[in-house]
Amino acid sequence: MRKDAPRVCIIGAGAAGLALAYALSLRGINTLICDAGKAGHGALAASAGMIAPGAEIWEARDSASPLAGAFAALARHSASHWPEWAHRLSAETGMDVAYRACGSLIPVRQTGMAQWLAGRDIEAVSLDAGAVRARMPGLVLPDGAIFLPGDAQISAPHLISALMAALAGRGVSVRENARVATLQRHGDVWQVRLATGEMIEADFVVLAAGWAAADLHSAAAGIYPVKGQAVMLDAGTQPDWPLLRAGDVYLAPKPGGRLLVGASVEPGRSDAATEPGMATALIERAARYLPHIASMPRLAHWAGIRPALPGLMPRAGLAEPGLVVALGAYRHGVMLAPAIAEGLAGLIDESRADMLLAPFAPDTVNEGLSSAG
Ligand SMILES: Cc1cc2nc3c(=O)[nH]c(=O)nc-3n(C[C@H](O)[C@H](O)[C@H](O)COP(=O)(O)OP(=O)(O)OC[C@H]3O[C@@H](n4cnc5c(N)ncnc54)[C@H](O)[C@@H]3O)c2cc1C
Repeated sequence: MRKDAPRVCIIGAGAAGLALAYALSLRGINTLICDAGKAGHGALAASAGMIAPGAEIWEARDSASPLAGAFAALARHSASHWPEWAHRLSAETGMDVAYRACGSLIPVRQTGMAQWLAGRDIEAVSLDAGAVRARMPGLVLPDGAIFLPGDAQISAPHLISALMAALAGRGVSVRENARVATLQRHGDVWQVRLATGEMIEADFVVLAAGWAAADLHSAAAGIYPVKGQAVMLDAGTQPDWPLLRAGDVYLAPKPGGRLLVGASVEPGRSDAATEPGMATALIERAARYLPHIASMPRLAHWAGIRPALPGLMPRAGLAEPGLVVALGAYRHGVMLAPAIAEGLAGLIDESRADMLLAPFAPDTVNEGLSSAG
């Protein structure tokens, strides 16, 4: 821990909060993280762990958001940092986050698709039905597919364990069952009050409380929940496949011969109930591509709540002096974790604005910061 380190309190031990705490600890700044529940068990634990900028950029191709180009740049940049993050976490903790550079398959081939993707720096390879069959026996894609070799994935449960171990090893405090009730600035000092009445003082507060952040500060205005349900199946053997990204359903082969099928998109819902009908619907959608999926034993069915903002774009940066937000990563919080964490760590440590994050800064921003790529 550096002697000149600012006191930083992070609200929310999710994808955003844990990754930022890790990035800050690499700079010698140890934070205090408060989570209302169990660390990592917000949306992060529900995540499919896909780091798939190619598939995400393709699926968002009709987005009217003026930030679409900036999002593509941030997603590519963050994905390019994942191998180093995975390697560092594993070297430091001995825990594998199951990073696999498996690529994605998109089961459509449209004229001009590969060129469209190439124009956004996404490598794309066209495969006909025979090539798909040869590489992935069992998968039925009669129209062939586009393969995006740059996409990858981790395992969210493995990531949570590794991040928690790394933070513990570095002396970072993670307080669980520590719900923050209010935060207020008094001059240069922020006061974070827990529901228990305990008060924590900090030079910087990071609001990273997922979909519930709007209860705490107006800097989170507009955030809303988008429930997602997913299912884990026992595929028997480990299919060495890419991710399959089919729009209304995806398949993500996971360690131990498991197959994750996701995910519903239910805006406005913040309950974590699982509905058997939704699991059946997901499996039926997946059976279009993998007919024998219906006979695979179900291992688990869960729901998580994604934090979304209007335009489905993240918000990350300085909202007012000493108040940093890391919000609204929607279905991209794992993919974007390294870029947002490193960008915000530079902001807190050096008052340095990150050019890739700048388009996602809150409105009232960022005068007097130096800039760097
Ligand atoms: C089914 C599903 C599949 C997904 N798949 C992917 C994927 O493949 N790739 C990808 O990149 N993303 C994926 N996501 C999205 C990803 O999980 C989220 O973008 C990410 O977890 C958001 O991170 P966060 O830190 O903002 O929120 P969370 O991870 O939800 O963390 C917020 C934390 O804040 C805490 N909190 C809330 N209120 C308070 C309070 N008052 N005081 C203290 N703590 C508080 C919560 O307990 C929680 O732990 C998926 C999500 C779902 C639901």
